[in-house]
Amino acid sequence: MTDVTAEPKPAIDKKALLAKYIAERDKRLRADGNGQYLELKGRLSHYLEDPYTPRVERDPKTDHVKFAFIGGGFAGLVTGARLKEAGISDVRIIEKGGDFGGTWYWNRYPGAQCDTASMIYMPLLEETGHMPTEKYAHAPEILEQCQRIGKQYDLYDKALFHTEVTDLTWDDGNSRWVISTNRGDRFTADYLGMGTGPLHVPKLPGIPGIESFKGHSFHTSRWDYAYTGGDPKGGLMANLADKRVAIIGTGATSVQAVPHLAKACGTLYVVQRTPSSIDVRANVPIDPEWFSTIATPGWQRRWLENFTANQAGGSMAEEDLVQDGWTDLSRRIRSKIMQLPPQDMTPLKMLAAYEDSDFEKMEEIRARVDGIVGDHDTAQKLKAWYRQLCKRPCFHDTYLQAFNTPTAHLIDTDGKGVEQITETGFVVDGKEYEVDCIIYASGFEVGTELKRRAGFDLTGRHGLKLSEAWAEGMRTKHGLHVHGFPNAFIVQPTQGANLISNVPHNLTDSGLTIATIVKHAETVGAKTVEVSKAAQDAWVELLISGPGRMLGAPDCTPGYYNNEGQDPGPAARYAVGYPAGASAYFRYIDDWRTNGRFEGLDIL
Ligand code: NDP
Repeated sequence: MTDVTAEPKPAIDKKALLAKYIAERDKRLRADGNGQYLELKGRLSHYLEDPYTPRVERDPKTDHVKFAFIGGGFAGLVTGARLKEAGISDVRIIEKGGDFGGTWYWNRYPGAQCDTASMIYMPLLEETGHMPTEKYAHAPEILEQCQRIGKQYDLYDKALFHTEVTDLTWDDGNSRWVISTNRGDRFTADYLGMGTGPLHVPKLPGIPGIESFKGHSFHTSRWDYAYTGGDPKGGLMANLADKRVAIIGTGATSVQAVPHLAKACGTLYVVQRTPSSIDVRANVPIDPEWFSTIATPGWQRRWLENFTANQAGGSMAEEDLVQDGWTDLSRRIRSKIMQLPPQDMTPLKMLAAYEDSDFEKMEEIRARVDGIVGDHDTAQKLKAWYRQLCKRPCFHDTYLQAFNTPTAHLIDTDGKGVEQITETGFVVDGKEYEVDCIIYASGFEVGTELKRRAGFDLTGRHGLKLSEAWAEGMRTKHGLHVHGFPNAFIVQPTQGANLISNVPHNLTDSGLTIATIVKHAETVGAKTVEVSKAAQDAWVELLISGPGRMLGAPDCTPGYYNNEGQDPGPAARYAVGYPAGASAYFRYIDDWRTNGRFEGLDIL
């Protein structure tokens, strides 16, 4: 029924809105780009210490394994699981944290939760028989799922925790990889997998005086519960009741932690440089009765495929099984485009329809702030002035409400950031705020050199370094294989499906591909698996024939999506996926993997 009393929405003044977006971007552009952040080494290296698990001394390893995998997050776990299912049992995972979990090992800040529906985000649910308890599971449950996979697939036995790889070199004479670590290990492996994730090196903002602060401070990915009290399950951080606390940064992490801090702190300052867009979360518990009706054999794969079809476009999936924030976003864009008369279905008009849908969505998100935040001035400052996909979209039902708590204060820096850190606090707009504790919600390195983030380079055939092979940009086949680096597999989304909103789908699928290849190589008694140069070149040519990068438009406000607003250089054109889209890629690779020909690989 139509509500006849509803006020018609005023038309959006797109020109004025665009001008505002550009003005807000320009305020934030800075010449130093990624250089504004501090690498956590030397006197800052204590920010990297593991507060969760004590380091256990052990003897260095000098043995040989069939398969070594660098990284014990989702990529290592799902690859390990698929290898075990294929009968490859000698698998060693090397992990810098004290347990499996990767991002979910480190990120135990209060309120941490997945932003993609758990039914598709949590890997191997069907294999492990786990039913997520919530539509968007909280971090402790996701970490438990990682540990469950580790236990079920016997991945703990050979794993090396609190161990960082320092060197990986191909031994051509013996057709194996030599792996060295910071624990004195030097062992060999027939095959090597790498899945170190895109966001694992915490960074600090390069604020003058940051080292002079005499109070307590930590990064959100090393949450100090010994100081704050409380626990990752959301227990009240009682030790903060008499503390003045600042959290610097208002990205996806801060948005989840702030409601918990607002409840606990004597005084909380939320220090903002750029507001996040905060859409509705609407989390609900999962009903076991409902779950039992849908969890029929093959359910998670069906859900993954349905999400991909809905989210990544390509085929027009009619039913949206997952219905999370991401499919909502895509559905709205599609429906706006579908409203165009047939004669207007041109690329330019479709792009304009996409832009219209974004303007509408962001107006709704900004109106939501007014509807929730009591103080008018604070509400204005919490509004995001950019297109939704310029920055990581956030979804939360208590973040904005936290600013109605009398002890929580938004300190907006009008795009400039914190001016200075002193011995006793921080300075914004010339005013010093004294605090007992500073929490850095300042994110992770993205645009820095791969070698720096990984902590190692790969040395392949004839001494070729991976950094040299990729000097002009990434070159692979399927995002997995690199010519000159036999028996090595890289597990990540780029140059494959490139499905950004549900990375675990990419990882799980790659795990299966790797296990299928290794099983085949072992069965035929091959010593090496390597992509040919011609096959790699052809794949890269295919990739760059596509529409290009979807994220990171230069007219966006700066952030890690667009290399902090700076030209990402010619290599960025290779940071793309299969031109026909993610659904098409998963169909393609399924056929590639099962037809038995392993086209493009030399298996000798
Ligand atoms: P981000 O990089 O997104 O945010 C860093 C924050 O620090 C930004 O608000 C940034 O402002 C601010 N900042 C940087 N320098 C300064 C300064 N000098 N003064 C004041 N503020 C400053 O890091 P997050 O940890 O929040 O998130 C990283 C990514 O991790 C997310 O984008 C997401 O992909 C993932 N994540 C996923 C979650 C999930 O799935 N549930 C939850 C949390 C994170 P500015 O914006 O102006 O640069």
